[in-house]
Amino acid sequence: MLLQKLREEVLEANLELVRRGLVLFTFGNVSGISHKDNLVVIKPSGVPYEVMKPEDIVVTDMSGKVVEGKMRPSSDLPTHIEIYKQFPNAGGVAHTHSEFATSWAQARRPIPCFGTTHGDYFYGEVPVTADLTPAEIATEYEKNTGVAIRRVFEKLATNTVPAVLVAGHAPFCWGDTAADAAHNAVILESVAKMACYTILIAPQAKPLARELHDKHFLRKHGSAAYYGQPKETK
Ligand SMILES: [Zn+2]
Repeated sequence: MLLQKLREEVLEANLELVRRGLVLFTFGNVSGISHKDNLVVIKPSGVPYEVMKPEDIVVTDMSGKVVEGKMRPSSDLPTHIEIYKQFPNAGGVAHTHSEFATSWAQARRPIPCFGTTHGDYFYGEVPVTADLTPAEIATEYEKNTGVAIRRVFEKLATNTVPAVLVAGHAPFCWGDTAADAAHNAVILESVAKMACYTILIAPQAKPLARELHDKHFLRKHGSAAYYGQPKETK
């Protein structure tokens, strides 16, 4: 079986979404990528999480063609592939319809950074895509969803927000690994929920001061990071 370890990691990341209450039924999907082999490993389409096994996970190439696996890949595969093209350092992508993050996507509003929980993970607001055109919906819908995501980040010129809201749909997150992508999806849901409550309590709430935002993000990320333990002692 190809990429056994990555299959197990991807299965585990998918199950993590269930454990954290981010998915209903067969909603949601996580993938991982082997940069060495240029292959994507993704959840099969429509298979219940309770019975999913490593051999059910589907291996495809970067054009979405199945390389190994009896099942059909998640229908969102072309979106995952576009995200991997946009972020060559990403090792995993997670998609959920988690309720609070999806509510922001449906409202077509970026999630402002109201607090340090957000600032620890996402440098600036979590952006929202533009709506797809009727033509983009009619053909290659899933690929065009990925293209809409790429357009957001080409404009932002930043790789420091590992999440996006697809307008009228739901969030996609990514990370160094499939597990990281699922972790970011869990954090995004928490941040989306708190932002929603913040606006409910104080409709005029202002985003976090830039200095505090920088402090929190940069102590965890980048060359001057000092949060947690040095990498080699992990
Ligand atoms: Zn979806």
